[in-house]
Amino acid sequence: MKGAALKALSLGLGLVLAAGLALEGPAVAPAAAAELPANALVVDGILLINRDYPIGADYDPIPGAPDNKQLLPEAQAAFQDMQEAGRIEAGLQLFVLSGYRSYAYQDWLYKGYRANVGDYADTFSAKPGMSEHQSGLAADIGDRRYPGITLEVAFENTEAGQWLANNAHRFGFILRFPKGQEAVTGYQYEPWHFRYIGKEAAGRMKAAGVPTLEAWLGTDTGAGRALASHQLGNVHVNRLPVPLRGYLIKDNHYYKLRDLAQVLAGTGAAFSVDYDAAHNEIILKRTPYAKGKAGEAPSASLPYRSALMNTITVRVDGEAYRLDRAVIDDLSYIKLRDLAKPLGFTVDWQVEPPTVLITTPAAEDEAKGQEKPDPAQTASPAEGSETTPATPTPAADPGDPAAAAPEEGVQASNPTDSHPAPSRVG
Ligand SMILES: [Zn+2]
Repeated sequence: MKGAALKALSLGLGLVLAAGLALEGPAVAPAAAAELPANALVVDGILLINRDYPIGADYDPIPGAPDNKQLLPEAQAAFQDMQEAGRIEAGLQLFVLSGYRSYAYQDWLYKGYRANVGDYADTFSAKPGMSEHQSGLAADIGDRRYPGITLEVAFENTEAGQWLANNAHRFGFILRFPKGQEAVTGYQYEPWHFRYIGKEAAGRMKAAGVPTLEAWLGTDTGAGRALASHQLGNVHVNRLPVPLRGYLIKDNHYYKLRDLAQVLAGTGAAFSVDYDAAHNEIILKRTPYAKGKAGEAPSASLPYRSALMNTITVRVDGEAYRLDRAVIDDLSYIKLRDLAKPLGFTVDWQVEPPTVLITTPAAEDEAKGQEKPDPAQTASPAEGSETTPATPTPAADPGDPAAAAPEEGVQASNPTDSHPAPSRVG
C-alpha cells in the first residue's frame, strides 16, 4: 500500500521533472556568494544538510535559476565528467532529473506529498529548508534509456544504478541515502540520489567503507568518527594564558601531545614526547621544570573537523595507559583529562570567559616561596612580550646534542639579517 503510493508519486514526479530535462544546456553562471545561515554545519569544508542541520529559507546559491535543471558549477562539471565516463565505460546515458531546487519549489513539492500520503511523506521528502537539493550539490540521476525507472528502488538493479554505486566517488559524488541506513539519514533508500562532496572526500569515504555522510562527518558516531569543534575557550597554565589550540569532541578537550608538552615546559608537569613505531606506542617521559624548545604558533583551522576515534597506548615513565585518541589530518589528539593524572597536573573549567585551567601542583608549591605575579603583567601577554626583548636562547645542555642542533638553525635564520639572497639567474 505504502510502496504503491510512493511508486505512483515517484512516477508522477518523474513525469513532471522529465519535462525540465537535464544539464546539457549552456553553462551555469557562477554562483553568487550565498550566505549560509549561522547554524549551518560545514565539516572539513563539506556542507551537511539534513533535518538536524537545515539551511533555512534564505539560502539560495543559484538565485533565479530554474528548478531541477542546474548544479553548482563545480558539481555540474563533475557530473558532466561522470556522464561522459558512464557513456564510454558502460554505454550509459546519465542525466540529472532534479538538481538545484529553490526553497519555494521544495515547499510546493513537500506539501504535495503530504497532501497525498500524510506523515509518510517524511520518509522520502525533505521539508523545505532541509533538502540538499536547495544547495545545488545534490542530483537525482537517471538513464535516458529507461527514464521511468529513475526514482524507483529498481534503479539499483539497472546498469546505470550499479555503475553509479561503484563509480560515483571517482567524480566526487556519494550515494546519499543508502539501503539499511534509514535510521541515520532519516530517509528511505534512494539509489538515484547522489551528493557532490568532492573527489578526495568521496574517494576516502568509499575506501573507508563509511556508509553515510553523517557518519563520515562525525555527527553520527556509528562508524567510529566524531565531530570535532575548534571553538574552544582559552587555556591557562598556572594562571597564565598559553597558545594551546585543539578540539572539543563530545564535550572533552583534545590536544596534540607535542603542543601540550610545549606549554607545560618549565613547569612541574613538563614532559617529552616520542613515538615508538615498532610497538605503536606514544612514549612520554616526565621532565619536571625542563625548558622546552621554541615551537610553532598554533595554526588556523577550520571550525569543524571530522575525527577518527580510536585508542592508543601512551606510556608515561614506563607505565602504560590505553587512552582515547582522535585522529585529524593523520595527527593524534589525546583527551586532556586522561593525561592529568599520569603527568601530574589538574584540569578545571572556568565558565566565564570559557577557559581551561591547567595547574601543575609542583609549580604552585614553588609559587608559595615567591612573590605573587603582578596581575597587570600576567593579564596581557602581548604587552609582556613587547617589553621583553628577544632573549637569547638559554645555552643548551652540553650533554644533549639534540638540544644543540636547533640553535644553529635559529642563528641561520636570524630575521635581522634579512638581505635577500642574490639571484643566480641575475
Ligand atoms: Zn534527491
